[in-house]
Amino acid sequence: MPAAIEQIESFLDEKKALACVHCGLCLASCPTYLETGNENDSPRGRIYLMRSIQQGRLSLDATVSPAEHIDRCLGCRACETACPSGVQYGALLEHTRDHMEHTMRRPWFQRLLRRVMIEKVFPYPNRFRLALIPAVWAKRMDIGHLLPQFLREALNLAPDSLELRKLPECSPAENLPSKGRIGMVSGCVMPVLFGGTHQSTIRLLNRLGYDVVIPRDQVCCGALYAHSGQLDMARGVARVNLQAFDRADCDTILINAAGCGSTLKEYHHLLEGDFRERDAAEQFVGKVRDLSEWMDEVGWKALDALLEKGRRLACGEKTTSPASLFGRPTTFHDACHLAHAQGITRQPRDLVKAVAGEYYVELPESEICCGSAGSYNLTEPDMAGRLQRRKVSHIRKTEAHIVVTTNPGCILQIESGLKQQGYVEVRVMHLADYLEAALQEAERL
Ligand code: SF4
Ligand code: SF4
Repeated sequence: MPAAIEQIESFLDEKKALACVHCGLCLASCPTYLETGNENDSPRGRIYLMRSIQQGRLSLDATVSPAEHIDRCLGCRACETACPSGVQYGALLEHTRDHMEHTMRRPWFQRLLRRVMIEKVFPYPNRFRLALIPAVWAKRMDIGHLLPQFLREALNLAPDSLELRKLPECSPAENLPSKGRIGMVSGCVMPVLFGGTHQSTIRLLNRLGYDVVIPRDQVCCGALYAHSGQLDMARGVARVNLQAFDRADCDTILINAAGCGSTLKEYHHLLEGDFRERDAAEQFVGKVRDLSEWMDEVGWKALDALLEKGRRLACGEKTTSPASLFGRPTTFHDACHLAHAQGITRQPRDLVKAVAGEYYVELPESEICCGSAGSYNLTEPDMAGRLQRRKVSHIRKTEAHIVVTTNPGCILQIESGLKQQGYVEVRVMHLADYLEAALQEAERL
């Protein structure tokens, strides 16, 4: 059998690749194509490159095409939303990246970033926390300008301080009897940088009458591995999580980070090679809900009477605190892995509108990636910066005081972009923090 055919069978599903009919309807949705106008940076161009790699017509080299165009892909999956032919671009990309990481030699810095930081540090909360200490210290000492550019850019994303918030393993429903038991995915980056968001999430679930458990034996969801071309490592953590949540015996598995949610909802594809594992994964996937999706399903309107009080006062201009969330122009940024990978756009908007009311303003190009894309802002800082500036310019047009979103990476990226351009007064909030803070404010009014 010729070598080229062997490659076709080993890494890319040719049927899935051939589903692309080259119509180009996805081009206007692709952030990298919008920025460069280069066909190789478009979905159909990249699918063509993937097929060329597997057919041996193009060789992989980290410094020239086609690798640089595939590396530049955000994995945002906006092309899937736009594609009328149902091309499963995300799956094609993951398998191509897996092939690339196992056959291509990258420059030393990229190897250090990918093999050490992304694979050995970020997925482990304790290691990640330790790795952040020098960054927090450098920020406090204001010595960022002494660092090389790539480290300066990474430093912009680091927090100003590290807070350690220990989350309880079980949090009971506010009003007994409990309506159900929810298992929460705590993730790896979230507990280190957004422990407060987890607390807000638990509080919202408890308010709505549900017990929350956070299984201690869960691990990283595998998104970092799957997106960076390490599918076997992603499969390994998926297996651990299937068992951890099976033991937790919960009705729903809840996630408040869009990037993790899309990977969790695809465990059955990740583990499709073994039918027993796939069955267990299908059961798991059937229980996974994004926070906004779950609140929509269980009827968050039970909380609306309280929010209504805040909206009424805001309309009567009776809010006194400038920190009030009511009566402030507020917009919503779609995290790619919620909007495109999970198809969820209405539910989080409804929730933001429940607080902002008539002050809600739609964000132009809301569904275009902000440049965060997991670890993309570290591996592809140039394009990440271009998309960050594009996002900030649209936020400015809305004149919003508050930007709400559903993914930690988007929050860091947008906050950093606003700060770099001097818009420090605009608050960027996770949906859970926004809702919980609004409910608390309404209770005080
Ligand atoms: S990915 Fe879909 S929308 Fe884009 S060119 Fe191919 S078939 Fe057309
Ligand atoms: S995943 Fe995003 S960046 Fe990549 S080709 Fe699709 S739309 Fe473009």
